[in-house]
Amino acid sequence: MNVAFVWKPILEWKPIPPIYVRNTFGRRLEKLEPIEPGIIRMYVCGPTVYDYTHVGHARTYVAFDAIKRYLSLRGFNVFHVQNITDIDDKIINRANKEKKNWEEIVEEYTRDYMENLEKLKIEIHLHPRVTSHISDIISFIEELIEKGYAYIAESGSVYFDVSSYDGYGELSGRVSPSEWRQEEEVLREKKNPFDFALWKAWKPGEPYWEAPWGRGRPGWHIECSVMSSKYLGRVFDIHGGGQDLIFPHHENERAQSEALFGVRPWVRYWLHTGYLTISGEKMSKSLGNIVVLREAIRKWSGNVLRMWLLSAHYRSQLDYNEQSLEQSKINLRRIESTAIELKRVVRDREPSSSINKDEERILTKVLEYYVEFHRAMSSDFNTAEALATIISLTRLANSDIIPNEYYTASIVSLKLLEEFNYVFAVLDRVFGVSVEPTTEWEKLFKHTIDILLSIRQKLREEKKYELSDWIRSELRKIGIKLYDYPGGKTIWRLEKD
Ligand code: AMP
Ligand code: ZN
Repeated sequence: MNVAFVWKPILEWKPIPPIYVRNTFGRRLEKLEPIEPGIIRMYVCGPTVYDYTHVGHARTYVAFDAIKRYLSLRGFNVFHVQNITDIDDKIINRANKEKKNWEEIVEEYTRDYMENLEKLKIEIHLHPRVTSHISDIISFIEELIEKGYAYIAESGSVYFDVSSYDGYGELSGRVSPSEWRQEEEVLREKKNPFDFALWKAWKPGEPYWEAPWGRGRPGWHIECSVMSSKYLGRVFDIHGGGQDLIFPHHENERAQSEALFGVRPWVRYWLHTGYLTISGEKMSKSLGNIVVLREAIRKWSGNVLRMWLLSAHYRSQLDYNEQSLEQSKINLRRIESTAIELKRVVRDREPSSSINKDEERILTKVLEYYVEFHRAMSSDFNTAEALATIISLTRLANSDIIPNEYYTASIVSLKLLEEFNYVFAVLDRVFGVSVEPTTEWEKLFKHTIDILLSIRQKLREEKKYELSDWIRSELRKIGIKLYDYPGGKTIWRLEKD
């Protein structure tokens, strides 16, 4: 018997928990409370563009993209800045090795990076480049020198004096410089081995910019302090990157920013991704074990890679292996086909306002998964557990909703189906794996149409026009229009009336 269903707002029924993040600073879980209510300002360290983007980079970029997507879903207005390091020793070395201009190297690999982001559906709001901010960098360094936090060495390089700032080492917990390889000549002109270059004096053959203390180029760390404060303000909410950046990069960024701005903390939450490894070793260019991202995307598709990268918690280590990618591919295909089926079932249903006991049970389960998904994501963005709820939801849809050879599901109301689809769409917004037909489905679809057209061609050759016209009119009904050209060639187009 059908009973009237009273819809309880989900927040009353089971509240969605507040978001907790694990702050690298202090190494503890903290409630996310942005500086300005409703707004999250996030800065993530992006690539040094001297080589192809690899799957290790993608791990960090996709992780912060999912974090941003989830925060947006929770109603925050997120502003995501990710820098591009377009001047660096590695870029200059590469240019020299290939006998190219350093700008050409930058252009080539920036394009590769951007194309990959697009394929992975990662949307960054702003990509500031170092070489467009040289005057800002010079002003920043000038102020550090004026205030006694930095000194000009004999070579014309400028160093940050870590003894002038008492919080050095608090982020990373590092105290011994012995773990850190440094060039002899640099070490000799520094007051303290931890002092780091804000400005590198010019060497013949290198690009340079003029500064009040001499020509040269910025050191690596300074760019992130300068560009984050320029676009996000002198304090901001989230600073991210891979865990390799905690020391020295982020320790140094923090030192120079807190010293100059006189603020503490400069960054509310430091978030770091675990390594993407290959046979247990960090994937990195210098170890020569990289899997080039564009090749991985070509082989697996952007969606499968996203699914796979998010199948582990962002802080844990993830090892590149093809079996687990294969599993993600299977999971994704199942989620996609389920979502497509559900949409079809909704389309085919007559509207009904009532819901029966059995449906109420299913609906309760759907809502439980929904809350479970939020619980996982609220607990330091646990995408691994959140993904498990999507898989459970998929199972439920296939066992209890989508008609199959054993089960006709004639009782299902439109209300339930719509809820189901809504929950799916919400989950999809975080994982960013479109449940619309993706390349795989598109391929299958196109092949099927081509097969139909070949059959129609044969029918026409045999002068069975009634049947061939029937194929044309049936395809027309589902929005596919055929164009016959002289010589027997037929093309098709998707054309809605
Ligand atoms: P890079 O161009 O090497 O400075 O790296 C750009 C971003 O990718 C930084 O946030 C790095 O921490 C991150 N990254 C590089 N390699 C890996 C890896 N194997 N696993 C996770 N993140 C990485
Ligand atoms: Zn940085």
